[in-house]
Amino acid sequence: MIRFEFRKYLFVLLIFLLGCSGEKEEEKSQAVIQVSTIDALMTGVYDGITTLSDLTEWGNFGIGTFNALNGEMVFFDGVFYQVKADGKIYRPADTTKTPFATVTFFEPESRYNLAGLSFPELKLMIDSLIPSANLFYAIHAKGTFTSIKTRSVPAQEKPYPQLVDVAAKQPEFETGPVRGNLLGFYGPPFVSGMNVPGYHLHFISDDLQFGGHVLEFELSEGVLAIDQINQFRLICPDDDDFLDADLTGDMSEELEEVEGN
Ligand SMILES: [Zn+2]
Repeated sequence: MIRFEFRKYLFVLLIFLLGCSGEKEEEKSQAVIQVSTIDALMTGVYDGITTLSDLTEWGNFGIGTFNALNGEMVFFDGVFYQVKADGKIYRPADTTKTPFATVTFFEPESRYNLAGLSFPELKLMIDSLIPSANLFYAIHAKGTFTSIKTRSVPAQEKPYPQLVDVAAKQPEFETGPVRGNLLGFYGPPFVSGMNVPGYHLHFISDDLQFGGHVLEFELSEGVLAIDQINQFRLICPDDDDFLDADLTGDMSEELEEVEGN
């Protein structure tokens, strides 16, 4: 009798432990993790605080920038690419730091075929596919682009200028036809000030010769994958630049200029 009871409790304990580990796994895979805020980046908080190796704990997919605003980050299939202002793509060291990045473990629930779309048309298509504008979505589109226009940003020196002033002189690049990957996020309207509301996509070509922050494109054919994400985690820097930054203003107009799409 005692033995039977013991077995019963052992079984209940086992189910409980399995349940706990399952939940933890779920949490890890379903969150958007963000380093710093877009408004901090807009005001010139460009010193990196988080290493790329730290980011790999929180995702295998994402976008952002690098220490001192040294180019555009493409984090694709667990590999970091740095599109610098010379238009070339570099492989940064794991110890490189980022002042702003958004990452997740990409696990798309849905895929769609794409044909003959511009950037505005892709946005409208995704708008019609997602169940609500009030959640986060990680977005990946692989395909052939008849043309694509991107930009990068050059590394800055202190005292750091505001991002809107850097972006006014940003180098822009165009190519096509080219095969490659668009990746990034849709952020809900209420994320304003912390991240980019709406679409924010970066690009990397299959031959690793072209990339950057996406401004315009014409896609001839491809496949779109969407990952709906209901959790958001913000990691605030603890360095003096962030602690002393004035983040009281509404920077949404400047952000539109910087995003440029
Ligand atoms: Zn960008």
